[in-house]
Parts: sequence; structure tokens; C-alpha cells
Amino acid sequence: MDFSLSNEQRNWQMTARKFAQEEIKPISLELDDKPDALGSFDWDIVEKGSKLGFRTLAVPKEFGGEGTDYVTQALVMAELARGDSAISKTFSQNWKWSHLISAACNAEQKERFLRPFVADHRFLLGKGITEPSAGSDNRLPPKDTPKAGLKLRAERKGDEWILNGEKCFIANAPVGKLFFIDARTDPNAPLRQGTTMFLVPSDTPGFRIGKVFNKSGWRFYRNGEMIFENARVPHANVVGQVGVSDMKASLAGDRTGGDLFGDLELAANALGVCDDACEQAMKHARTVKQGGVPLFEQQMVQLKINRMHMLTEALRSLVMRVAWEHDHKVHSANAGLAMNLSTDVIQEVTELNLEIHGGAGGTVARHAEKLVRDSFIWSHLAGDTVQRLKVAARIARMAAH
Ligand SMILES: Cc1cc2nc3c(=O)[nH]c(=O)nc-3n(C[C@H](O)[C@H](O)[C@H](O)COP(=O)(O)OP(=O)(O)OC[C@H]3O[C@@H](n4cnc5c(N)ncnc54)[C@H](O)[C@@H]3O)c2cc1C
Repeated sequence: MDFSLSNEQRNWQMTARKFAQEEIKPISLELDDKPDALGSFDWDIVEKGSKLGFRTLAVPKEFGGEGTDYVTQALVMAELARGDSAISKTFSQNWKWSHLISAACNAEQKERFLRPFVADHRFLLGKGITEPSAGSDNRLPPKDTPKAGLKLRAERKGDEWILNGEKCFIANAPVGKLFFIDARTDPNAPLRQGTTMFLVPSDTPGFRIGKVFNKSGWRFYRNGEMIFENARVPHANVVGQVGVSDMKASLAGDRTGGDLFGDLELAANALGVCDDACEQAMKHARTVKQGGVPLFEQQMVQLKINRMHMLTEALRSLVMRVAWEHDHKVHSANAGLAMNLSTDVIQEVTELNLEIHGGAGGTVARHAEKLVRDSFIWSHLAGDTVQRLKVAARIARMAAH
């Protein structure tokens, strides 16, 4: 397996590194400090990054995007996350859903939605699945019963669908212009058969954003409620077939672009945070003295830094392998494993960095404390740590064939 990078991949990596160091890092802590949920967002950084191609990295070239491969996407995400994990995610969230547009939308929908997305530097994408009483339920329904899973209802009236209900925690909800929405089209069928995916623009009549969540970590990343009150969505916005949602494909193990990418995306983002934590720990251990010598001379500190690097490099290997597998259409359970590993690694590595900073970690060294807060978001992303154990079941199924 050859992991050397092409010139194009290297160029994207370096452009992202420069942007993270010069544009993202200088504003990261200041935005993280803003007390209100809306104040920590900044359109300038989105526009600047978009002009460099970071918003449209995953859109095929025929639609005016960058059309990069998965290896490039993993490299760019990790570099942007070294500057700020939540800002990196704000960009890559669009790659995830443009992958889904490419994988699941028809030619007319691609034309209608991808062109305006590419043209507008403030056009962000999202997807609403989670509801106040249906989170894990959507991915691991306890039984195949109509009672489990999301309840947002869609009923057909002529050429339109009328949507009623609400979603919560939805990324980019308060700032996005287009959303994939999973809705129940048959409330008497189990989740897998009774759900349909719709494309819902933010200006859809009857659709509005409710509360914006004030999170402890990833403060730049906007998460909000979506309220549907007789929202009218044209039939032309049904993605795929009625009763065949993206979720059905996910649950069947035949994962579409967006879902498949989600695990790689989060693992690559975690890698960037770990790189940042390793750098912070080395810098602190070299400059601060205890007992007249730099902290780095203490064997316990060396052991901690060694462990941070070891875990980070192991994660890098798996992330790059998964990206390579996606590019070569190799089917494996490694993306899920990488996501699970990244959760453990990011939480341990950022905590070790905090420990190395001593008392400063929780007080003046805000950069170290921020990484720990960001890392805990991984416990409840793309499902959560418990649900992700389903990966073990996929491995068992693959081994059986
Ligand atoms: C930063 C962030 C961004 C997000 N973005 C989006 C988004 O863009 N779109 C979207 O749709 N959602 C999004 N979510 C929601 C996320 O997918 C859910 O939080 C996640 O699926 C868990 O659901 P829940 O929060 O309702 O927890 P619950 O399902 O209520 O789970 C609570 C606890 O119970 C445990 N549990 C639940 N069921 C079982 C079971 N059967 N067996 C064992 N244990 C169980 C869980 O492991 C968990 O520890 C986001 C969440 C966060 C934090």
C-alpha cells in the first residue's frame, strides 16, 4: 500500500495548514470565549475558506467544485482542525452532504441544488435526523416497531408534502441554506420502511429554526432546533424513493456517500486536534521549568508525551488507510473502527496535554482546556459510543462471508 502523497494532495495539505495557522488559529480562542450561542460564529472565516475551495472540496468538478479524493479531504480536515476543530467541521459538514447529493440525488436535483451551493460562499448544508425523543433510536431501533425512531410526519397533498414536527441538535441549522430531512411517511410501518428523505431549503414556507444550543465544546459549530408547522415541500424534493431513506441504506449496511464519509470525517478531524495537543504539550514541556530543569526532562512527562504521539500516529495510520480504502472502493468496517478509535484517542491525548499544563491547564492555558471540551463532543457524534459498537456486528457479518 503506497501512502506517499501526490503533488496535488500535498498542495491542498499545505494550503490548509497555512490557512489554519494564519486565519483560523488567531480567532479560535476569541470566538470560543463568546458567551452566547450565536456570537461564536463568524461568516468572514467561512467566506475566506470558501474562496480557497474548502467549502466545496467534495463537489464533483463537473458542478464547479474541487472534486478532490478522500485522501485529500482527510488531509485538509486534519490541517483545518489543528487550527480549530469546530471551524474544520463547519467546512467538512458540507462535504458530507455534498457526497450525499452526489450519491442519492437525481440529475435534476443535482443541477438545482449543487450549482447554487457552489456559487454562494455563505451556502451551508445540514441534515436533520435527531428529534427530542429519538436519537439513538434512529440508528439502533430497539425493535422493528413503528413506535421506535423519528416522528416528524410528512403527508402527501397533491404535488406537495406537508411536514409537521421538530428536530434537535441539527448542525448548521441556524446558518444553513439547504437540509436533508428524514420524515415519517408511513407512521404504521417500522422506521426502516416508513421513512423518506426530503431536500428542504431554509426558506420553505412553514419551516423555521427554534433554539440555538449553547454547547460546552465545538462552540463555533452551530446546532439548532428545526420546527416544521405545515411546512410545504414539493414532491420534486423527495430524495430517491418514498419509503427508502438514506437511513434504510445505512441500517442495511449499504452505506451511501454521506454516511460512509461521516466516520472518516470525524476521525480525521480528531487527528488534527491530537496534532495540536502534541504540539502544545511539547511547547509547554520545553519552556516551563520545575526544579530548575525543563518539564521535558522529567521522565513521567516524557512518558506522557510519548503516549500522546504513539496514539496520534496510530490514529493517523488508520485514518489514511480508511481514506485510501474509500478512494479504492474497498469495503471494510475500518471507517467505523477509525471513528471509535478517534473518540478514545482524542479524549486521552487532550487530557494528557491538560495534565502536562498543570494548574495552568484549567486556568490560563485556555488553549489546552478548549481541546478537552471539544474532545468530549465525540462521545455523541454520528450516533454515540454505545451505538458505534454495532461496528463489531458488521465485522462479524463480514467475517461470516
Ligand atoms: C455536536 C453535535 C452535532 C450533532 N449534529 C447532528 C446533526 O447534524 N443531525 C442530527 O440529526 N443529529 C445531530 N446530532 C445528534 C446526535 O446524532 C445524537 O445526539 C446522538 O444520535 C445520540 O442521541 P441522543 O442525544 O438523543 O441520546 P439518547 O439516544 O437519548 O441516548 C442517551 C444515552 O442512552 C444510551 N442509549 C440509548 N439507547 C440505547 C440502547 N438501545 N442501548 C444502550 N444504550 C442506549 C446512549 O448510548 C446514550 O449514552 C448532533 C449531536 C451533537 C452533540
